[in-house]
Amino acid sequence: MKVVTTRAEVREERARLGRLGFVPTMGYLHDGHLSLVRRAKEECGHVAVSIFVNPTQFGPGEDLASYPRDPERDLALLEEAGVDLVWLPQPGDVYPSGFATTVEVDGVTDVLEGASRPGHFAGVATVVSVLLGVVRPDVLFVGQKDLQQSVVLRRLAADLALVDEVVVCPTGREADGLARSSRNAYLDAEDRQAATVLSRALRAGRAAYDAGERDAETLRRTIREVVEGDPRAEIDYVSLADPETLVELDGPVDKAAASLAVRIGRPRLLDNTLLHEADPGLG
Ligand code: AMP
Repeated sequence: MKVVTTRAEVREERARLGRLGFVPTMGYLHDGHLSLVRRAKEECGHVAVSIFVNPTQFGPGEDLASYPRDPERDLALLEEAGVDLVWLPQPGDVYPSGFATTVEVDGVTDVLEGASRPGHFAGVATVVSVLLGVVRPDVLFVGQKDLQQSVVLRRLAADLALVDEVVVCPTGREADGLARSSRNAYLDAEDRQAATVLSRALRAGRAAYDAGERDAETLRRTIREVVEGDPRAEIDYVSLADPETLVELDGPVDKAAASLAVRIGRPRLLDNTLLHEADPGLG
């Protein structure tokens, strides 16, 4: 496994690899990240991973300075997973002096995370454009855990022809259903228990849908009521939206993405499920 810092080093090492899958991350890796790495290795034969806590996707007052970091442990996990190339840049390697470009994806970025975190997706789209431009992979692997991000990145990749294929991988969960996230490290013991309310709420939504409920507002309310039942949970949004456009649904639904953002103690946690598709992680 090669670990490199500069754009030139990435280019040089990439040239030695054939078909390449790429998994961009912010580090503090968990098994959700590693499931993307395994899939990339399986599908492409070679895999590159970047670890970069991207400052431009954090808003003022967000957790940029305290975002958990453990590069040594991350590298050991990636080595074990058979990764070929790790890009561990300094901020100046991603954003060289004079950097003046911002990539904006319109429409799908206005709602949900985009509404709660102004500028977040411009930061994500810009950094991923740089990463793809430097690494030049054949396939980009992202997690459904960040549903809106996956929609934004599919749009970006198609519009700017930055990569031929984007594969969205299922959400990795803890045994009790909590979606794995680097930010779960912020949860104290009681909040960690309360955090299962997100997956429990989505399960309740799935159960209603599976029992034949199709009214958007009823499904949304079913999910919301489970979260409201937990005094530690502070809802940012509970959404039932079109899975492609992320526009909120109304009336009878067919395909529907249920997603929610909830603050439990310190972290703001995200989860989602596609009601019209099997979701083995949620049972
Ligand atoms: P992050 O390090 O949080 O920026 O995540 C890097 C990539 O891993 C993104 O494509 C995420 O969607 C994905 N990811 C994060 N958590 C999970 C999870 N629990 N299961 C699957 N993919 C995940």
